[in-house]
Amino acid sequence: MSENRSDLPAKHPAGAHEDLHAKHPAGAHEDLTVEKVIIIGSGPAGYTAALYTSRADLEPLVFEGFQWGGLLQQTTDVENYPGYRDGVMGPEMMQELRDQAERFGTRFVTDDVTRVELSQDGSPHKVYVGDSEHLTRSVILAMGAEPKKLGVPGEDELAARGVSYCATCDAAFFRDKPTIVVGGGDTAMEDATFLAKFAKDVKVVHRRPEFRASAIMLERARATENIELLAPFTIDRFEKGDNGALARVVLTDTGDGEDRTIDIDGAFIAIGHRPNSEIVEGQVDTDEDGYVLVEGRSTRTNRVGVFAAGDLVDRTYRQAVTAAGSGCAAALDAEAYLRDKPVDAEAHWEPDLEKLEAAAERAASS
Ligand code: NDP
Repeated sequence: MSENRSDLPAKHPAGAHEDLHAKHPAGAHEDLTVEKVIIIGSGPAGYTAALYTSRADLEPLVFEGFQWGGLLQQTTDVENYPGYRDGVMGPEMMQELRDQAERFGTRFVTDDVTRVELSQDGSPHKVYVGDSEHLTRSVILAMGAEPKKLGVPGEDELAARGVSYCATCDAAFFRDKPTIVVGGGDTAMEDATFLAKFAKDVKVVHRRPEFRASAIMLERARATENIELLAPFTIDRFEKGDNGALARVVLTDTGDGEDRTIDIDGAFIAIGHRPNSEIVEGQVDTDEDGYVLVEGRSTRTNRVGVFAAGDLVDRTYRQAVTAAGSGCAAALDAEAYLRDKPVDAEAHWEPDLEKLEAAAERAASS
């Protein structure tokens, strides 16, 4: 279950690594060490890439972000990561992944990357945290994606106390309980169908009369006895019960404007994800939703020496174990790239200029 963990950054304060930044003020390129690999992001993809690249003696430098550990830091029980027979707490698992990478010499900067300048010609890439500049021959992008929030009263307060963004993770906690799923796309239908195996009933609440989901997934949900589709309704607010957990949702019928209150124990928000690709927008190819594009089954982006892994590239699976697998692939791709260097830039995937221009326009208009 999700929960807010505001205590996390304190465990690895940014100050612990400030020597790494302070030595490298912007504009002093000639004094800079050129890293072999910099990894940006610290979910299962980033830490697994760190593990593999450190074991390959590439001495990775990980910019793990101020909120290190990714989305699993906001999760309690993880029961679907292989190897943990009795499950594991999300933060504990991330600490283990981090410690394992550190054991082989990974260095960490617990701060957020503010900008990157990715080269096109195989010369060093530049990664910035504020004014401090870091040069590197290769970069692994593993910044993840975040579930979109509704932004209604009670949503944040009741996260981990009934409000969840991951049915795969949390559905089993709502056995025989009344629940809702918010959203009208494939994820909402998939979540509802999965949740219906556990919950007493599932109401899918969608803001428009028409559902965005594909016909087959919509039909599957419709055919499930304990799923009911409610549209067009918006979520007005979530309310808690005496025990502090989610107890009710107040919906507004967008047809007649009337409110309707439903007693629920669980609410699953499935209104899409937003990949954290802002810092590379306009530099690597992304799709229309900002997911970084990679070449085939590799982790190669269209920039030489720049690789991408995890939820940043994956709109479909989004599991800790698939992210870890893709972090491993990125490490192996980076290792092969460094081994074969100097690499002919032509041998890499050519940038799609139309997509780059579209992304640059989007960035300029946002
Ligand atoms: P989508 O963007 O397809 O759907 C998001 C849904 O949430 C839409 O119905 C949208 O409403 C609704 N929504 C968005 N913002 C809000 C808001 N603020 N308040 C209320 N409702 C909101 O995202 P999905 O995650 O469902 O799917 C993403 C992609 O992944 C799709 O391409 C999908 O096909 C794919 N996918 C495929 C699966 C499979 O094949 N097994 C499983 C899951 C996903 P509206 O329609 O009004 O915009």
